[in-house]
Amino acid sequence: MRKAYIAGNWKMNMTPSAGAAYAAELAKAAAEAGADVKIMVAPPFVTIPAVVEALRGSSIIVAAQNMNDHKSGAYTGEVAPEMLKDLGVTTVILGHSERRSYYKEDDAFINRKLLLALEEGMDVVLCVGETLEERESGKLEEVLSTQLVGGLKDVKAEDMEHITIAYEPVWAIGTGRTATPEDADSAHAFIRGQIAKMYSDDIAQKLIIQYGGSVNASNVKALMAKENIDGALVGGASLSVEKFLPIITYDK
Ligand code: PEP
Repeated sequence: MRKAYIAGNWKMNMTPSAGAAYAAELAKAAAEAGADVKIMVAPPFVTIPAVVEALRGSSIIVAAQNMNDHKSGAYTGEVAPEMLKDLGVTTVILGHSERRSYYKEDDAFINRKLLLALEEGMDVVLCVGETLEERESGKLEEVLSTQLVGGLKDVKAEDMEHITIAYEPVWAIGTGRTATPEDADSAHAFIRGQIAKMYSDDIAQKLIIQYGGSVNASNVKALMAKENIDGALVGGASLSVEKFLPIITYDK
């Protein structure tokens, strides 16, 4: 039985004071509503300390949206995993489509970061997903397979328990267009099948696969009802407790 895992990616939103106020409100609301899914929030780097402080005593996980692929050194403007861990960050999102497209991150670079995160004892949410053009030209499976093989290169079977995959079709992110639950489930089934081929059926069955792309209070239930959808990575609708609470309590 895979435990549902719902994450909020705040992207470049929320100052430290706004993040702290949100986090305190979310922790209270989630507890009052009896939310029993695994919940994660990923604030911008500078907002992380205030959010960690506000969530002290809560089981809500704090993640980073990115990290550098080196342990330390002359990388101006970058953030190392050890710095994140020191703040209380346990998890990092890697390979988000915005980083792939705006900052030209490729699978090899994402893989270096992922291996370092594992070495540092962190959990990773690895994002994969196709563009509309790739989907329409029948390349969905090829793209997913390339991103999985490249992103997970040299990851040992015993480390797979630290990996969550987020399937995020690029055309559904921030656009209001959601993949149908059937389309999303079939992409998730393909991902699970690839992981079974790369590792084992057991690892594939235990793997948490989140769906991301315009998830909101109205579509979350239908998505989560699908066999292979184990959670959600939520952007826009994670930016207010009012919108995020119904998503993390979709089963109530
Ligand atoms: C995301 O950023 O990962 C995302 C899925 O965004 P949105 O929910 O806004 O589409």
